[in-house]
Amino acid sequence: MSAKEKLYSIVAHDAHDDRHHGAISVPIYQTSLFSFDTYEQFNLARRDEQENFVYSRGNNPTVRYLEDKLALLEHGERAKCFSSGMAAISAAIMSIVQQGDHVICTYQAYGPTREFLGVYLLKFGVETTFVDGSSLENWKRAVRPNTRLLYLESPTSMMFQLQDIRSCAALAQSIGAETILDNSWATPCHQNPLTMGVSLVVHSITKYISGHSDCVGGVVVGSHRFMDPLMSTEYMLFGGIMTPQTAGLVTRGLRTLPMRMQRHETSGLKIAEYLGKQHYVRKVNHPGLTNHPQHELARTQMSGYSSLFSFESDEPVAKLRAWADSLHYFRIGASWGGFESLINVNALTNNDQQTGSLVRLYIGSEDPDDLIRDMEEAWRCVTLSPSEGEIYEQNAGISQDG
Ligand SMILES: *Cc1c(COP(=O)(O)O)cnc(C)c1O
Repeated sequence: MSAKEKLYSIVAHDAHDDRHHGAISVPIYQTSLFSFDTYEQFNLARRDEQENFVYSRGNNPTVRYLEDKLALLEHGERAKCFSSGMAAISAAIMSIVQQGDHVICTYQAYGPTREFLGVYLLKFGVETTFVDGSSLENWKRAVRPNTRLLYLESPTSMMFQLQDIRSCAALAQSIGAETILDNSWATPCHQNPLTMGVSLVVHSITKYISGHSDCVGGVVVGSHRFMDPLMSTEYMLFGGIMTPQTAGLVTRGLRTLPMRMQRHETSGLKIAEYLGKQHYVRKVNHPGLTNHPQHELARTQMSGYSSLFSFESDEPVAKLRAWADSLHYFRIGASWGGFESLINVNALTNNDQQTGSLVRLYIGSEDPDDLIRDMEEAWRCVTLSPSEGEIYEQNAGISQDG
């Protein structure tokens, strides 16, 4: 059985246990607490709230089922599911750092993650240096005696820049620091950072893992060494837990994750290649394209590609937004990872100078030929007077360095 075939079996097959009466679909345990006949049983259970079922802020069978599947998919020993990706990310970071520590983070990481590290954590005396994460030298140069954490997101979700995961993890180990990697883009189907030396993997479950744009969630995965303290402190004390209802929905989505990712990969590459040949496209940012500057690195640390990517253009933002408005299949919106294709158009800036436009596309599960036809037809409808092209909206910028 190949590694990819194995993924299909992991998401489809369960050992059926007595607690669920052989139910094929894991029941939603809609309960806040679990009760006991005697104090002896209660006290025994309370000794390990993460292994026993005592209170749903700590452990609930429906959520636990999903956590065990995700741990298996990521090659980790334990996973904990949170109410959102940001709840998982902030808990993972807080579990590693303390007052006076220093963090190094790739400068293109997800915006709220950068704000949490670079602004919010300052009030606890934790400082972050942001580096161009594509070069190992930049990570090395940023190291300080108090560096405790290297935070990676590979690939990043606007410019799709990679970091050399094995080298960054080895660097962290050599200085006694830890690594966290946001694996939302590649999913456990295409990239397993724990097998490359990373300490903790985080995901926004909201995206591909749930896959149907109907829930918000997050997960942290790692070894017992990191997860056991995180479960009794950041998980139980902050309380940003995933509810059993959400875990039931996510489990349903997870059943088809490998099939969805296979289709997303094929459709995404087809459309990225198509766009690479269009007159309005200056450059396509997709690590699966052979002309992507980090394609070789991508091949050494990923086994496949997902379907969120961007292209740079010399066309004005207003014209590209008019084009986006006329698209039939692509909806305008934040997020990604569901069945529906999405588009975002922003100004691309470098040191506050506009250097072009950036269009981020999410390729859903529609027929890629329909999506290509949609883009072609929409171009034919775009009419824009030259003056309109001059108007750039406020707050429309996406910084090339962030
Ligand atoms: C959406 C996203 C997050 C945050 O996840 P939420 O579920 O919205 O909190 C984190 N990282 C990446 C790369 C994302 O795209």
